[in-house]
Amino acid sequence: MNNPIRRSRLKVSVLRIGHRFVRDDRVTTHIALVARALGCDRIFMNEVDKSIRSTMEEIIQRWGGRYFDIEIFENWKSIVKHWKNGGGKIVHLTMYGLNIDEVIDELRKCDELLVVVGASKVPRELYEVSDYNVAIGNQPHSEIAALAICLDRIFNGKELTKQFDDAKLKIVPSPNEKRVLNNSRD
Ligand code: SAM
Repeated sequence: MNNPIRRSRLKVSVLRIGHRFVRDDRVTTHIALVARALGCDRIFMNEVDKSIRSTMEEIIQRWGGRYFDIEIFENWKSIVKHWKNGGGKIVHLTMYGLNIDEVIDELRKCDELLVVVGASKVPRELYEVSDYNVAIGNQPHSEIAALAICLDRIFNGKELTKQFDDAKLKIVPSPNEKRVLNNSRD
């Protein structure tokens, strides 16, 4: 689907692999929230707790982003295969990769990127199938932080002023108070 507020022609989707039931629910929810808020079109997730989808649907309903797709998959390999066949590039975020500064210019030239984040140990095959194994620094930290920094580099900070045209609620930035416009007719 078209993203009417995209500021670059580059389309970015996120693939979350290795979700550990219950333990990773909150982290996977945050991955999805970051993907939507910071300029992605879509997230692919394993069969996860249904509350993650409903949390996202609630956010989208109030804060906008009806074009943001949430797709549940059974086998990450078929997503990756499909993606590559369609000509998209795969960016696997891993502390073992090349630092993002070394590849960012190439990434920005791509038409479609699939950014992959893991949970626990990531299968070796993913390193081989990826076009770019990219580190957000070569220290272990967090998939949420890694995704956010990666998207910020890809979109060059422009995602921070992104507006959702279908939002019912819109924040009016303020130095000292909470200001929210409510366009809801409900
Ligand atoms: N030892 C694990 C592995 O095999 O990669 C690290 C798991 S880490 C808790 C979960 C995910 O966070 C990783 O799969 C990766 O996507 C992301 N991540 C953590 N640190 C990172 C870094 N420095 N650079 C890029 N991604 C990172």
